[in-house]
Amino acid sequence: MSLTEIQANVVKNLKIFRAEKEFVEVRILKTKNGVVSGYYNDFTRLANDIGAYIGTYDIYFTLNPLATVVQLEEQNTLNFNVKQTTKDSGIKKFSYLLIDLDPERKAGISSTDDEKKTAYVKAKKIFRFLKSKGWFDPIVCDSGNGYHLLYPIDLANEDTNRLLLKEFLQTLNSLFPASDGAKVDTTTYNASRIVKLYGTIACKGESSEERPHRISKVIHQPKVIQTIPIEKIKEITKLSEKGINDSHKSCDYRNTGNPTMRRIDVEDLIKRHNLGVYEKKAWEGNSTLYKFKYCPFNPEHDDWSFCIIQFPDGAIAVKCHHDSCSSNDWKALKKHLGIAFKNRGRSQIRPTSDQFNQLLDNLTVLGPHLQDSYVQIPLAVFIQISNQLIKNSLFN
Ligand SMILES: [Zn+2]
Repeated sequence: MSLTEIQANVVKNLKIFRAEKEFVEVRILKTKNGVVSGYYNDFTRLANDIGAYIGTYDIYFTLNPLATVVQLEEQNTLNFNVKQTTKDSGIKKFSYLLIDLDPERKAGISSTDDEKKTAYVKAKKIFRFLKSKGWFDPIVCDSGNGYHLLYPIDLANEDTNRLLLKEFLQTLNSLFPASDGAKVDTTTYNASRIVKLYGTIACKGESSEERPHRISKVIHQPKVIQTIPIEKIKEITKLSEKGINDSHKSCDYRNTGNPTMRRIDVEDLIKRHNLGVYEKKAWEGNSTLYKFKYCPFNPEHDDWSFCIIQFPDGAIAVKCHHDSCSSNDWKALKKHLGIAFKNRGRSQIRPTSDQFNQLLDNLTVLGPHLQDSYVQIPLAVFIQISNQLIKNSLFN
């Protein structure tokens, strides 16, 4: 493809993402002139100005619309050794939810065809999954080394929305883990996110037959652009909390009908072990969800990814959304915090022989009226009594 053709494609692609006369920042990193950046609403001029960099450097653009007014002298020109580029505060709103799928490989090199294929397979899976949840079609792009799904959204540039997008990507990453070779980038939620300028050449590392530089492309564009409502995004983030229901099955603390077992006071536990900032809320009816800013297993998980749930029967489940924490359950948390709970497990409840004999006497007395009586006793005692009763052939 000739440079002129590449430049024509860049113009065409930018028009998909920008309204007529709307500005975009184009940015090129680590050039011999430092960061090269410019604000353009004349896309033909933009394509001409970046011509010298195409094929040598990765070229990016700001995905979301700019809030700042571009001064006349700053318009449609490239600047060199730029220190100030667009910040999150310089973005008007979130217009796209970017799901970036990249094959896992060493940093700074282009992907092989096989590696790139893993990203394609995963992009397809996620595309289908979201479609099954009633999502409209995204714009699909080939980033050169992987694939992008770009879902149109319309959310104010506010912290709550940024955190929602972050949570969404993390949920998606936990639903579609990187074990198949491609990873959902969980960092593409920031308002001032820059992405590959579609149509330009991805230039990671040396270009070789095995790891070639490839032209990025827009490969699918829905006929009508339809915005994904915020509720749809929230619906997906809730799926990771649902995963906790599965871990409920493996909870090792239940005190149903056993008054001798102590119900764990989660708030007391939080205080005693300094688990830090948390939010408490009702969850799925009668359960209680505690969400934590910091994950106790890894303080780098500082994005409210860790939670404890207490079910109505006292059982506790623990979950962190990060892949590296996926095996950490309640048992792991207890071990991690050095918590040893007494009264756990039935074998620890043993009556003295006097108590046992007294119970046995009472039951024998109750004999014929047993069907109307209700006695609450620990399971271990019940087994002991049953054995004794059978031995005494009381029921024969
Ligand atoms: Zn964690």
